[in-house]
Amino acid sequence: MQPSLKNTSTSVNDMETFDLAARMALRHFPVALIRIQTGLPAETVDELYQQAHNAPPPPPPPLPKALDLIATPEAAARATSFLAHYLRLAGPAAYRRIDIEALMFAHDLHLAARDDAKQTETVLRAWVLAREMRCRTLTFQLCSCGREFLAHADQKLPAACHFCSPRPAVATRSAGGEKSSEVRLANG
Ligand SMILES: [Zn+2]
Repeated sequence: MQPSLKNTSTSVNDMETFDLAARMALRHFPVALIRIQTGLPAETVDELYQQAHNAPPPPPPPLPKALDLIATPEAAARATSFLAHYLRLAGPAAYRRIDIEALMFAHDLHLAARDDAKQTETVLRAWVLAREMRCRTLTFQLCSCGREFLAHADQKLPAACHFCSPRPAVATRSAGGEKSSEVRLANG
């Protein structure tokens, strides 16, 4: 079954929405996030995913916990790399909504700027970072070393700059005691 693209009354907005969903599917965004960003029904997103990859979407990955994204100096460096691109592209609007176009472009720049030896953020982790920025739970703070580092409102320990003071992993608030895993979606 094709998505309802053949509907002759499809508006430009509809076409743009399908185009965005198709591009997100191509980048392996989880179906749930594509639905959040486009408002399209699950069946339509599943079909777009199938068309993009010739395979159905994988089971939904767990959403990364925000604190885990800056829990180690390495993770904080990755998050800072992505968010620097994202905030520059999205501008002040990043604090009002998730700019998905800016997010995808920033993710490309992030991947291009990181060499092979360094881990990169997945699109899912990038989306959570953008969401935390929008909520202002994740903020950049100025360190005495002159550089800006990421701090999260839920951190139990005082936030520390990852550039000049490597810190231990921050404890996450995990009621069920489960250890959140590094979600790495296939990135092509
Ligand atoms: Zn510092």
